[in-house]
Amino acid sequence: MKCSTMHFKTLREVPAEAEIPSHILLLRAGMIRKLVSGVYGFMPLGWRSIRKIEEIVRQEMDASGAQEIHMSAIQPAELWQESGRWSAYGPELWRLRDRNDREFCLGPTHEEIFTDIVRHDISSYRQLPMNLYQIQTKYRDEARPRFGLMRSREFIMKDAYSFDRDEAGLDESYRIMYEAYERIFTRCGLIFRPVEADSGAIGGSNSHEFTALSEVGESEIAYCEKCSMAATIERAECVNAKATDGPELPMEEVYTPGSSTIEAVADDLGLDKSQTMKALLFVKYNEEGQEDGYVAAFVRGDRELNMTKLVNALDISEHAIAFADEEAMGAATGCVGGFTGPVGLHDCTIVVDSELPGQKNLCAGACKADHHIKNVNYGRDYRGDIVTDIKVLGEGEPCPVCGAPVKYARGIEVGQVFKLGAKYSESMGACYKDEKMESYPIVMGCYGIGVSRTLAAVVEQHHDDNGIIWPMSVAPYHVIITLMKPDDEIQSGVAERIYQALREAGVEVMLDDRKERPGVKFKDADLLGIPLRITVGRGAAEGMVEYKLRRDAERTDMTAEEAIAEAVRVVNEERHG
Ligand code: ATP
Ligand code: MG
Repeated sequence: MKCSTMHFKTLREVPAEAEIPSHILLLRAGMIRKLVSGVYGFMPLGWRSIRKIEEIVRQEMDASGAQEIHMSAIQPAELWQESGRWSAYGPELWRLRDRNDREFCLGPTHEEIFTDIVRHDISSYRQLPMNLYQIQTKYRDEARPRFGLMRSREFIMKDAYSFDRDEAGLDESYRIMYEAYERIFTRCGLIFRPVEADSGAIGGSNSHEFTALSEVGESEIAYCEKCSMAATIERAECVNAKATDGPELPMEEVYTPGSSTIEAVADDLGLDKSQTMKALLFVKYNEEGQEDGYVAAFVRGDRELNMTKLVNALDISEHAIAFADEEAMGAATGCVGGFTGPVGLHDCTIVVDSELPGQKNLCAGACKADHHIKNVNYGRDYRGDIVTDIKVLGEGEPCPVCGAPVKYARGIEVGQVFKLGAKYSESMGACYKDEKMESYPIVMGCYGIGVSRTLAAVVEQHHDDNGIIWPMSVAPYHVIITLMKPDDEIQSGVAERIYQALREAGVEVMLDDRKERPGVKFKDADLLGIPLRITVGRGAAEGMVEYKLRRDAERTDMTAEEAIAEAVRVVNEERHG
């Protein structure tokens, strides 16, 4: 297309609200447009790249046997009430009412809708397995929308749902999707790592996140260079510290005025933090949003509590728990802010990290202001209602698989695959009959890709100080012809000839024929990140042009014919990713 007739508006200045490169560059290149916080529109060039990502997704989904459908973003509350998620989903669910006061939500995801489809349409094992997907707009009223397309309130997602007769079938569907995701993200030009992810209270190896490696990513992953262990921090299992030996000493109450933190009490009593334990205090809420009991979680003083593991241990939703008001909780349970220990605590669920029973003679709060107790021992002095791993696997700690020191990396979660099992089919009654006419719940998997987030992740991994450097496969156009002097007949003639030849060869090409200074055109070409630039300037009189790849500094003078041939070759080699 010719730039003189195109709509795009580039910005020289960095927009005030943008902090990370992808957000800054997508705004500066005029590819996205903010409407309100967390809600963005796509301008022509941005939309072309979105459609390319969608096309890659579509091709790989279709090739793996999935079928595309398209459901409404508006979903009736009744389906969510059936699955139990109307209350469990929390404030991210964007709820609305129609004129007759009937309740709806804007779909943050579509498990209920797809389960509803199959419970009506599937009755026999002969119809299984099946995989349905859509590419569609999702809504989540995120607490902190930020970073542009990374965490927005309206975004494009590919969501797929597989339906099988048993676990073995699900394992196969899951493997097929996992492999399709590897191809999709590779074709989009991403450097990524599939990592084990939290799969709620079900546990096991039931979910993977696909993480595009990036310093600005919100996902933290732990991985091991010696073995293949890689998991999100929420999910990563943690090796318990070796049990300590020796006799259990008698408990001793000590006066520790003002030492309400682990650091202070360890200092005060000359202990290592690992010889102490700390308490974290929470209140639970029921489905009606009313307070529903207190929780005290204990981990060793040098550890961090893993909130996801705690929520899974309690088998509640993450929205059903919050930090407790210490005074109110104190009145009900005997805890004392900054001085809470397991001894003397009552009327609350006590969750004890799995390594504490092996740790002898720890120092804990005394449930009494300005006091601690030394030599607290599990079994003799306190017990947990739940004893399980609720701690964070720290960087450098032993890998849970092979014991080598664990490394940390950051990344952007671009996709997730998940074995749902019979969670939705049981609650919503989606069953099939087998050969003997016996009825069983359909076994499900779900598979999401953040299409708009993937666009941002690509920019995050492919840019420099001057702008975006699109991989060919998702670039809005493959080639930009920068015409230095549109008024010069020879130059514009050569540019036009290259433009037509490339178009005939199926190359997507922009011709910058705007009446702008060359400096402006070069800056825009770099900012937009078109992978290949052909500059038509003074050399045109001799049939010469300049050929340059956006990713390389090197420029090469060649004839227009050579530039056309070279561009066609490179584009065809790289366009499918
Ligand atoms: P996150 O942990 O980042 O909030 P999620 O695990 O809740 O994401 P899923 O329910 O797994 O997200 O959704 C599937 C995919 O949709 C994610 O892998 C991500 O790429 C994308 N996605 C989720 N939330 C957003 C959002 N607010 N903005 C843009 N993309 C999103
Ligand atoms: Mg996810």
